[in-house]
Amino acid sequence: MPCRVCHSERLEQFLDLGDQPHCDSLLLPADLSRREPYYPLQVCFCHECTAVQINYTVPKETMFGEYLYVSGTTQTLRTHFQNSTDRLVARLGLKANDLVVDIGSNDGTWLACYNKYGLRTLGVDGARNLAEMANARGIETWAKFFNADVAREIIATKGRAKLVTAAGVFFHLEELHSVTEGIAELIRDGGVFCVQAISLTAMLRYTQFDQVYHEHLTYWTVKSLERLFGQYGLEIFHADMLPIHGGSMELLVAPKGTQPIDASVAKMRADEEQLGCHQIETYRNFAKRVREIEIELMGILRDYATQGKTVQAFGAPAKGATLLNSFHITTDLVQCAVEVNSLKIGKYIPGARLPIVDEKTTTPPDAYLILAWNFLSEFLPKKREYIMAGGEFIVPIPRPVVINRHNYAQYVK
Ligand SMILES: [Zn+2]
Repeated sequence: MPCRVCHSERLEQFLDLGDQPHCDSLLLPADLSRREPYYPLQVCFCHECTAVQINYTVPKETMFGEYLYVSGTTQTLRTHFQNSTDRLVARLGLKANDLVVDIGSNDGTWLACYNKYGLRTLGVDGARNLAEMANARGIETWAKFFNADVAREIIATKGRAKLVTAAGVFFHLEELHSVTEGIAELIRDGGVFCVQAISLTAMLRYTQFDQVYHEHLTYWTVKSLERLFGQYGLEIFHADMLPIHGGSMELLVAPKGTQPIDASVAKMRADEEQLGCHQIETYRNFAKRVREIEIELMGILRDYATQGKTVQAFGAPAKGATLLNSFHITTDLVQCAVEVNSLKIGKYIPGARLPIVDEKTTTPPDAYLILAWNFLSEFLPKKREYIMAGGEFIVPIPRPVVINRHNYAQYVK
């Protein structure tokens, strides 16, 4: 497969997580009698443009047609989107009736934050179930996969946008080039594109290998995004790092020459350079650290099993499936996953086949394996009583640790 960004053939694989099922295709009890489809999960570095990417694409209709990740589920995300909105409205001087388009708008959690400003909003999301949820709460959402054709349809019916946003979707894009072309069209009259995406630098720094899953096709840096945007007459003029999802970058992008370039862009580029984002050796070392995490975590889980202690996964996020399936963790080590998301309860994590049960009605285990480690600071205060009573948190990333009542204080912020 050629590079998704520059079409070069000079890709080198540095991490092989084996064949895995699509992480969000949760299984129903009736599915358990047959084997779910498995696809290669291998990560490559492009020697030509430095873009990091997986080399196999599960069709987007399989991955996103019915989507189970609902933005509105966590308070952390709702707060994050309100903060982003307030910041963008002020910075860009958005006025009533300006059009904001959110790509991959999910259940409309982000767009709902613009209500108080009187802006016109439109969501576009390929997941029919989420588009329905958003429309039901009064946030106009088209159940489509955004691309250049959809952009032209928006322009024809609503005009061009002052702001186009994409949060947690830019690494998902199978039609990367058509989407970018569509964004360029939408913002051609002085609009701005705001992209929020998990940062490759955070992934490297904290060995967040579980951010690798079939939905994440590309892992971005400023440098690789510049290469992409440059092909469509766009340039990045502001760069910020946000704490959400364990470290996400927020980039503001505009048609070339329409905005002054902030010093933050050069600074982020320099950070990437310093971390070695553009050298293959950095990625080979990353792969070595993943193997170290595996050895340590499996040691901890086997100890618990030997002592007859129960372990439940806390949450069943997509990244959790990567971790469980990369290390071949199944119900003999982790009995189930507890969740609050009703779309997931009653189903099974593919591959590992952990049953997903209701957190509220399940007896707490001796220890929780924290798969959604990016929300650790939200979970710790919530579970204070559990930990003080002798319960434990096993946190696998960036390096496996066990949090208990003796060291609880040093992890609570
Ligand atoms: Zn490339």
